[in-house]
Amino acid sequence: MIDIDKIRSDFPILTQKINGNNLVYLDNSATTHKPQQVIDSIVDFYSSMNCNVHRGVHYLGEQASIAYESVREKVKDFIKAKKSKEIVFTSGTTESINLIANSFGRSFINKGDEIIITEMEHHSNIVPWQILCENKGAKLKIIPINNNGTLMIDKLNSLITDRTKLISLTYVSNVLGTITPVKDVIKTAHSKDIPVLIDAAQAVQHIPIDVQNLDCDFFVFSGHKIYAETGVGVLYAKEKWLEAMPPHKYGGGMISKVSFKKTSFAEVPFKFEAGTGNISAVISLGKAIEYLNDIGIKEIQKHEDELMRYTFDKLSTLDGITIYGNAPKRCGIISFNLDNIHHYDAVMILDKMGIAVRSGTHCAEPVMSHYGINGSIRVSFAIYNSKEDIDGLIYGLKKVQEMHQ
Ligand code: PMP
Repeated sequence: MIDIDKIRSDFPILTQKINGNNLVYLDNSATTHKPQQVIDSIVDFYSSMNCNVHRGVHYLGEQASIAYESVREKVKDFIKAKKSKEIVFTSGTTESINLIANSFGRSFINKGDEIIITEMEHHSNIVPWQILCENKGAKLKIIPINNNGTLMIDKLNSLITDRTKLISLTYVSNVLGTITPVKDVIKTAHSKDIPVLIDAAQAVQHIPIDVQNLDCDFFVFSGHKIYAETGVGVLYAKEKWLEAMPPHKYGGGMISKVSFKKTSFAEVPFKFEAGTGNISAVISLGKAIEYLNDIGIKEIQKHEDELMRYTFDKLSTLDGITIYGNAPKRCGIISFNLDNIHHYDAVMILDKMGIAVRSGTHCAEPVMSHYGINGSIRVSFAIYNSKEDIDGLIYGLKKVQEMHQ
């Protein structure tokens, strides 16, 4: 069992009063707060070793490079990759997906080829493929969803053709909380030699990950959603793909030799890390992973599952509520609307009570179209959320309903 009081005391922002009320923060899918340990790691970096990495041979440069590379090892272990060279640091999930679209896409997608995504993707896993397809004369195909928020996985076989070059899908829907059957998709895809990209932006903080067991080709996530600083993300790719793919950005740090005649590129993963990265954010990611490992991702999953069940029970006591999606396998993200109350109005009133939840389309407009809505209220959990947070939310939602009677 996790010690929720101890965990909450690690997050200084949670002691803040918002509009005179205790903060109830349930917008963790957008970003998570940072434990003191992570905040300290950023201050420590600038206080004791600030320097560019992989450049200076002086003391600070060496310390910074060692710290930076140790995070690559930590990420490798965290997602159970085979080699640390399969870990590329990016600025986030969005950049990781764009990197693959620009690099893999440039080399391996041609006119008439096809890419498959799903109806429940975040815009970051739609738009890069849409633009790539437009530029290349390729076709984007969509696996539809059922009303309960599950994937129509039985449609996959009929969508795949001999022109299918990539399948890219989310592990966990950022609107519905659905955990998608990524392993089945990968198995089917690989039986036809099609690589698979997993958008794990909403998965790594909730579910134990083993990329070798999944056998995915690409796997991406953002640091800021797993308790690290903004501005760092991860692209995992099987070594064979990183070797085969061209760099997507050019400049310092990604070369092995430059002359005016010819430039040769650095080895994997450095050929994908042009310019100065967000070093302190990378360091903070290492600390966030340590923090998660200390608690244990399985314990976190148990805690969040319990919170989710508790939330569903409490939400079901409200009249006039529509919850979107009810997948049997899901994570702590719940979207809903209250009858005759605009999601934006509801969230504004909740904010007055110190309750932070999201309203809008959640960067997933196709999901909104599926349910025929222009937005929803979304609550999403993190390790520091407690049943008291949910009680606060339910109290707030009842108040919102009373005000609209
Ligand atoms: N994919 C999913 C499933 C997400 O939830 C998000 C963030 N909401 C993203 C991609 C984009 O992440 P970032 O903004 O950190 O690049």
